[in-house]
Amino acid sequence: MKGAFAQAELHIIRARLHGAKLNKAQKGELRFPLPVGLVFDGEKIVLDPDQEVQGAVRTVFELFAQENSAYGVVQRFHELGLRFPRRAYGGVRDGKLLWGRLSHSRVLGLLSNPSYAGTYVFGRYHCCKKIGPDGEICTQLRPVPQDQWPVVIPDHHPGYISWDQFLANRNRLAANRTNREVLAGPAREGLCLLQGLLICRLCGRRLSVRYTGNGGIYPIYECGWKCREALPPRHYVSLPAKPLDDAITERLLTAVTPLTINLAFQALTCLEERDKIVATQWHRRIERARYETDLAERRYEEVDPSNRLIASTLEKRWNDAMQRVLELEAELAKFEREALRSVTPEQKQQILQLGRDFPRLWKARTTSSCDRKRMLRLLIRDITVVKGPEPRLLRLQICWQGGASETIEVLQRPKRQDAVRYPDTFVAKIRSMAELHDDKEIVEQLRTEGVTSSTGRPFTLCMIRWIRFKHRIPSPPRPVGTLTVGQVRERYGVSHWVVYYWIERGIVLATKRRQNTPYAIMIDDETDHRLREWVANSGHLHPSSPTRTA
Ligand SMILES: [Zn+2]
Repeated sequence: MKGAFAQAELHIIRARLHGAKLNKAQKGELRFPLPVGLVFDGEKIVLDPDQEVQGAVRTVFELFAQENSAYGVVQRFHELGLRFPRRAYGGVRDGKLLWGRLSHSRVLGLLSNPSYAGTYVFGRYHCCKKIGPDGEICTQLRPVPQDQWPVVIPDHHPGYISWDQFLANRNRLAANRTNREVLAGPAREGLCLLQGLLICRLCGRRLSVRYTGNGGIYPIYECGWKCREALPPRHYVSLPAKPLDDAITERLLTAVTPLTINLAFQALTCLEERDKIVATQWHRRIERARYETDLAERRYEEVDPSNRLIASTLEKRWNDAMQRVLELEAELAKFEREALRSVTPEQKQQILQLGRDFPRLWKARTTSSCDRKRMLRLLIRDITVVKGPEPRLLRLQICWQGGASETIEVLQRPKRQDAVRYPDTFVAKIRSMAELHDDKEIVEQLRTEGVTSSTGRPFTLCMIRWIRFKHRIPSPPRPVGTLTVGQVRERYGVSHWVVYYWIERGIVLATKRRQNTPYAIMIDDETDHRLREWVANSGHLHPSSPTRTA
């Protein structure tokens, strides 16, 4: 009983504590550890007064705006030899800043932390307890969706970015993820130019790229999410990549001329700004090192010279600090020599020329497909694919980066089976020819007319036979009133040798259209009469059951 009460009490206490916490958070007063770049100043949250720290945080946001990917930011940081601060918690270095390499997870943390947008948020993560497979209770932190955050106070404190920018960064990160069904954004390897740019009109999802055919050399764009999700496929979009790529390329090359100069200038200012930011960050770093040298020097001077042990330690520190300054200065000089872009008017001119040469640049063999995709992304935001009501007609709704949009039409190549199928008019022609001519004559006539098959080859006997079989076209009928050898044989009850004998001797009138074709035998009343008499009176011929003539 007592135990049960104690448990209940614990529960109530916990609930009260949580209530108080939430209450405080709703006023924006609940304190939690701040991310690097923000510090408490009394009760208020302010930007870190350390300019180098501020600079480092700002650089991450600036670089993300240019690179559009967290990995890109990390890479740029390492290339530029920059470091990122981290605040130590606990231990001897409690509260101190440690400088080190910027990691990918830090960038993700920075970009997804609303504190940098000056917003106070409580409840971004939900703590849930689970019983593991071996009976242990484990606690997991689960991110809470943004629309369910319990406390959000905008403009709570100064920030590094605006709220809109924060949202844009989050969306960008979400779009960069490859392990979900909506692929988007950054240019990846691969041959398909429009990868990640095409959107399915029917379901709003991005079309993905698949390689089909022998050895996967025929890329197609497809939207098969219903198939993937094992839902009944109401629509399945699958388009060969090449015609689409070609259509967009063609449009791009004609569209780029008026845009060129602007684009080149924008890219240029962008690069210059980035270099400036990086250079200031370097200078701050050197300043800090110099300050540390001064500090070490002062400490050395303040110490009692007779205390030799301490004096020698301090002297060593001073020396190290000076060495560090020298190293940094050398590194900066190297950076300025190698990376810093100072653009001369001639170079500007060159860039403008580059813009004019866009078509050549685009087609150059040295331009990689990844570069082409990047260029494309500078100009086009996305392309919606609409399968027209007409068969084999596609409409590509291009949404340009400026916000303008336009639609271009692409006529798809007919399917193979449609391409080799003979049109109805041709079949009708064969039908009418077959009334008078046999297959061989038809072939000869078509060859003299210069007509070729749907695959572009001259006609052969086989082809005509196939067409006649396929479309049930009969061979030319025998002239009216004629009989075949078999019919004559049946009528008079003789063997077919006899019939041939009659034909050879000219007893009956037989015609043949050409060699190796059946005889057409004409028998008039007089001949019929004579033949019947002959059969009846002949010693050799024994009619079994001669049929009466009609
Ligand atoms: Zn779709």
